[in-house]
Amino acid sequence: MPDDLHRRYQAAHLAYQAHADACQGCTRDTPNCQDGQRLRESFTRLQDAYLTRQRSKR
Ligand SMILES: [Zn+2]
Repeated sequence: MPDDLHRRYQAAHLAYQAHADACQGCTRDTPNCQDGQRLRESFTRLQDAYLTRQRSKR
């Protein structure tokens, strides 16, 4: 069963990791440029939404 929120969360995760790998300033845990901060922020927002939904499912 495809899960859109989970897929977007994974995609945002991969997008940030790819940026961190390519970027001189950012690491996988800490964004250090404007692009990195934006990508990291959308990833954490989707992660929060996903985890919140997982918790409320039980
Ligand atoms: Zn960066």
